[in-house]
Amino acid sequence: MYFEKRDVVLIAGIILVMIGLIPFMAPVYAVTIGLLLYFGIKVYVGRKRSMIEKEVGEGVCMECGFTIVDKKCPNCDAEK
Ligand SMILES: [Zn+2]
Repeated sequence: MYFEKRDVVLIAGIILVMIGLIPFMAPVYAVTIGLLLYFGIKVYVGRKRSMIEKEVGEGVCMECGFTIVDKKCPNCDAEK
């Protein structure tokens, strides 16, 4: 879990939600909900990213751009 520029927008939004909740409940509950929201979104975004990384795999071949499988390019290494 690392800090990103996008997190600033996320935190700003959550602070607004917390401020909106404070008139209806104790500030401590509003902060708790805000924190839950923050970590919920972080976990969701992290899972989505790792799914994308899995799909991308081990990278792409520097020569042809094919997806690397088992540290080999199925396109170039097959020809050798
Ligand atoms: Zn290749």
